[in-house]
Amino acid sequence: MTLKVACPTCKKEVIWQEESQYRPFCSKRCQLIDIGDWADENHKISQPVQGAVDLNEEMLDALEAEFLQHNKFFVEPE
Ligand SMILES: [Zn+2]
Repeated sequence: MTLKVACPTCKKEVIWQEESQYRPFCSKRCQLIDIGDWADENHKISQPVQGAVDLNEEMLDALEAEFLQHNKFFVEPE
């Protein structure tokens, strides 16, 4: 009996056997494409969170400095 699976990347038939070392993928290329997709998704998920944290800290510092400057600016003319 021969078990066949569909390659998750290109849907090509892959025979489930010792020789098919990249199963369930048909080839190393398809395996790397799938791993690459996962890495991309992880990158997309983690990147905005890290960026937002850095931005918030920087923005708060910038806003605080700007606020203090404006306060002095508004106080001085009076
Ligand atoms: Zn494939």
